Amino acid sequence: MKWPAMRYLRASNLGELWAALSEHGPAAQIMAGGQTLLATLAFRLSEPGVLVDITRIAELRGIRVTGQTLRIGALTRHAELGRDALVREHAPLLTEAVPLIAHPAIRNRGTIGGSLAYADPAAELPACIVALGATVVAASAEGERRIPAEAFFIDLLQTALQPGEIITAVEIPIAPRVSAIQEVARRSGDYAMAGLAAALRLEAGCVVAPRLVYFGVGNGPVLAARANAALEGRMLDAASISAAQAALAEDLDPPQDLHGPPEMKRHLARVLTSRVLGGFLPAKELAA
Ligand SMILES: Cc1cc2nc3c(=O)[nH]c(=O)nc-3n(C[C@H](O)[C@H](O)[C@H](O)COP(=O)(O)OP(=O)(O)OC[C@H]3O[C@@H](n4cnc5c(N)ncnc54)[C@H](O)[C@@H]3O)c2cc1C
Repeated sequence: MKWPAMRYLRASNLGELWAALSEHGPAAQIMAGGQTLLATLAFRLSEPGVLVDITRIAELRGIRVTGQTLRIGALTRHAELGRDALVREHAPLLTEAVPLIAHPAIRNRGTIGGSLAYADPAAELPACIVALGATVVAASAEGERRIPAEAFFIDLLQTALQPGEIITAVEIPIAPRVSAIQEVARRSGDYAMAGLAAALRLEAGCVVAPRLVYFGVGNGPVLAARANAALEGRMLDAASISAAQAALAEDLDPPQDLHGPPEMKRHLARVLTSRVLGGFLPAKELAA
């Protein structure tokens, strides 16, 4: 289908963006990489009166370290995220996630801000930022506020953003941790049938502050409270990994979807738990 008729505006800075959003109100919709939005226009799933292009707003760009925080601008494209040296050093979970997102053409235009704002429950980056204990920086004409990532994703395709607010950046605490992401997808580049992004500290073999976050198995990223509690303070070994897998029965309530029934998703989540946590074990324990 053709797109609906609409006006197109390009904001060159945040001041122009706030003016456009104030003038057009709910009729305005912002566009970043356009990789999801343009498809929804073609399917008439969204029909904005005014499309506001934010891609030239310099304030939304850049990746930098300030103190103990890695700040990633909302307009950072997936491909930029994947090759950035600061991200690789301080948040390698994101570096590892990028090749799992769609295909190179989409990664060249899609942005982290767009991915978080769209909040697809099978998307990789929302799960990663929850696993990393990140903060989403939101702004509107009224000012800026910070939202913990785990409070940002509210329900299916719903976030804590208020009308008139945009994501300007994501802030990730720099901390010693191990992390990994794995998923099961039908084909390379497809959205995940189920996935797991995990971050934790290992102190003398014991698990500290684990954050297992599952995606593709709920209405948003699922921080698995009971599995995390089953791991906290325990030696990371086959017994604690089994305990985390068992606890998932209470953490996950996957909906039936095109990929299969809930029990299939629970099974995939248990398999991913063993793969991801097993990857943190020394090779000799894996062989045992
Ligand atoms: C074929 C295909 C396969 C894909 N596969 C995957 C995949 O496997 N994994 C995955 O994670 N993603 C996948 N995607 C989605 C891709 O990652 C998109 O780039 C991303 O979801 C949206 O980013 P965008 O910058 O293109 O946002 P846009 O399409 O421009 O916008 C998406 C939505 O977010 C809003 N928005 C954009 N930026 C902001 C902001 N800064 N603040 C507030 N609201 C904002 C827009 O108004 C719109 O509602 C796929 C897309 C396609 C087309």
